[in-house]
Formats: sequence, C-alpha cells, structure tokens
Amino acid sequence: MTVIRDTGRRAVLPPFGSEHEELRESVGRFVAKEIAPHVDEWEEAREFPRELFGRCAELGFLGLKFPERYGGQGGDHLHDAIWVEELARAGGSGGVGAGLNAHTSIAMPPIFNFGSEEQRQRWLVPGIAGEKIGALGITEPGAGSDVAGIRTTARRVEGGYLVNGAKTFITNGVRADFLVCACKTTEEGGHGGISFLVLEREMPGYEVSRKLEKMGWHASDTGELSFTDVEVPAENLLGEENGGFKLIMANFAWERLLMAIGAVGAMRRLIDVTVAYALDREAFGRPIGKFQAIRHHVAEMATKAEAARALTYNALRLFHTGQDCIAEVSMAKLMTQRAVLEIADQSLQIHGGYGYMREYGIERAVRDARLGPIGGGTDEIMKEIIGKSMGL
Ligand SMILES: Cc1cc2nc3c(=O)[nH]c(=O)nc-3n(C[C@H](O)[C@H](O)[C@H](O)COP(=O)(O)OP(=O)(O)OC[C@H]3O[C@@H](n4cnc5c(N)ncnc54)[C@H](O)[C@@H]3O)c2cc1C
Repeated sequence: MTVIRDTGRRAVLPPFGSEHEELRESVGRFVAKEIAPHVDEWEEAREFPRELFGRCAELGFLGLKFPERYGGQGGDHLHDAIWVEELARAGGSGGVGAGLNAHTSIAMPPIFNFGSEEQRQRWLVPGIAGEKIGALGITEPGAGSDVAGIRTTARRVEGGYLVNGAKTFITNGVRADFLVCACKTTEEGGHGGISFLVLEREMPGYEVSRKLEKMGWHASDTGELSFTDVEVPAENLLGEENGGFKLIMANFAWERLLMAIGAVGAMRRLIDVTVAYALDREAFGRPIGKFQAIRHHVAEMATKAEAARALTYNALRLFHTGQDCIAEVSMAKLMTQRAVLEIADQSLQIHGGYGYMREYGIERAVRDARLGPIGGGTDEIMKEIIGKSMGL
C-alpha cells in the first residue's frame, strides 16, 4: 500500500493510501449509477426511498467505520470521509447525503461510542444493516445554538423515565425508527444535567408532529417531534446519566468535519460541471470559458476549493490521529460552508439563465449549500469556538 507520509502537525494530507483510492472509485461508481440518475425524482418527492439505506448497507457503505463484529467493514473515519466526499461529488444532492449521513455519522456513532453491548446489538447492528433508521435529536423549538438550554425533560420514574417535550429540524425525523435524544435529567438542566435516551418510534406518546418544508436538502426528511409522557425504560439511557454534554461535544467534531468534507466533494462537482459548461457554451463566436473574465472566475473557484480541501484534510488528519482539533475542525467547517455557497453562486452566474433552471442542478446546489453556515453549529458559533481557543 502506498502511504503518503505525514509526520509533522503542519503536514496537510491525511494518510490516504491505495485502498482508500479503490474505495473512492467504487463509491463514485455506485453513486453515479444508482443515486445521481434519481435525484430529481427524489427531490420532487421530498425524500429518497427508504430502500436506499438497505442498498447502501448491502454494499457495506453504512458500516465503513464500525467493527466487523457489528456487521461493519472494520474501517475508520478515513473510509467514512471518502464515502461522504464522493457521495457529495457524484450525487449532487445535499438532501441524499444529509439523510444517509445523519444516520451513519450522527445517530449511530453515539450508540457505538457510549452504548452498552446490548444497546449496540439493539440499534447499531440493525442500523448498519439498513434495517433500522436513526436520527439525532438535540435542537428544540426554543434552543438550537444554546444546546445547554434544551427543555425536553426526562423525569425518573420506576423502571425508567417519563419524557415530555419537543424537537425540531430533525434530519430523518419523520422516518427514524430510533431517536438518540437529548433530555434534561435535572431540574436545572445545562451542562451537568443533560442525558441521552434512545426513544423508539412505536413508544406511546412519541409523535411526528410535522414534516417541515425547507429551502434546500429536498430529498431528505426534516421532522418536528413531540413527546407526551413517553415511558422510556432505564436500559435506553445512553452513557452516564447527566453525562450527555460529553456525548454532544464528541459528536459535534465528526458532524462538523463531515460537513466540511461534504462541501469539498460538492465544490469538486461544481468546478467540473462549470468547466465543462464554459467550454461548451458559446457566445460572441467562442466558448465562454475563453473569455478572460470567466477564466478568472473559474480560477478563483478552483483556488478557493483547493484551500478548503487542504484545511479540511488537515483537520481530518488531526482527528484521525486522535489529536486535539476542535479549533481546526471549526475552522474547516466555517470556511468550507461559505466557500461552497460562493462557488455554487459563481457557477450559477457562469451558467447564465440555464443555471437558474432546475435541470442543471446548479440552483439546487445554491439552495443546498445555504444550510451549511447554519446546520451543525452556525458560523457565529464556529467563530466563538475558534476565538475562545485563542484565549479571547
Ligand atoms: C435542514 C436542517 C437539518 C437539521 N438537522 C438537525 C438534526 O438532525 N438534529 C438536530 O439536533 N438539529 C438539526 N438541525 C438544527 C441545527 O443544528 C440548528 O438549526 C443550528 O444549530 C442553529 O440553531 P437555531 O436554528 O436554533 O438558531 P439559533 O440558535 O436561534 O441562532 C439564530 C442566530 O443567532 C446566532 N447566535 C446564537 N447564539 C449566538 C452567540 N452566542 N453569538 C453570536 N451569535 C449567536 C446564530 O449564529 C444565528 O445566526 C438542523 C437544521 C436544519 C435547518
């Protein structure tokens, strides 16, 4: 295996080897053949078919970073990074990536990292097999960025907890079989009073109150959920009681990194599509790409994408090697989410009127990219984290 050596903290590339490149090709082939041709239809239907989870599971893509004993592939976050990047690059739908990745990368990791063996058998194994779909429920109608301010309560009763409250903006919220749900387990809540419980769809009092209509990510479902006296057995407590904040923080790092990686994939797609269009579309007797103004636009897009990729891969390398990387991950998330939005907008400009039409997928890229500076922690929150890491 050829491994690109990276010894110093400033080295940029993660150690991708030939095995990763093979995975990259096979994911790209699968996405181009079995996802991309259906994206328009799934966007229109406002969700991709549930069977897609099963198909991805069959090919091993849902369990890339999980051990073989749970049905996974025994890989690591680098394998998952390739999956996320290629899904965004070859698929061209933020919604498909969001739905699949909310399951594999934000709902299942807490079960693996904080769950007991029994809990892993109950949710991780069927999750990797694509039989049960997961979602992560933190955000509430009254608390998003201020995670410690959540109000959903889990009151101790005999045998478990009684859960009351609501969650909103939950990706896969409508079809999730299980919800990894943040609840207040003390009167005060806050950093030392939040716990995670796994709620299951069939529990009495668990309701999908609304499927939300949104600007982009149309192929993913985003739900609002309500809980009324939901009886949750004690064995559904994930990790330690009142130790939920640790789980939230652990999860955020990978969620934000994968958003950055997804943006890198989306930028690669946008640049490829734009260069092809600029060479094909003619005006004033020549391909528009031969006008210096357009060439410069594309050069700027490529430079921005390359900077975004280097920043992201460096954060990935630090994360993968277990180094402290909260600031680097936040920088990668912050920079890439704005960069992909700007690149999508530049691409639309170069496509002219056709860019504004649905059939080219560019207007979708703009709508999908707009979520980036909000979801998984807003730009302002990223800047807070980065600034505080500098002692400010
Ligand atoms: C399509 C979509 C899918 C999502 N999927 C999920 C999911 O699966 N699970 C889940 O739990 N959540 C999910 N979210 C929620 C998402 O993480 C939140 O929207 C995000 O964290 C922001 O919270 P908020 O919307 O409540 O905004 P608010 O927190 O109300 O923020 C509003 C504005 O105030 C700013 N602001 C807030 N605090 C500060 C501060 N301290 N300093 C400066 N500015 C500040 C924000 O940056 C923002 O500009 C999803 C959201 C969307 C839109």
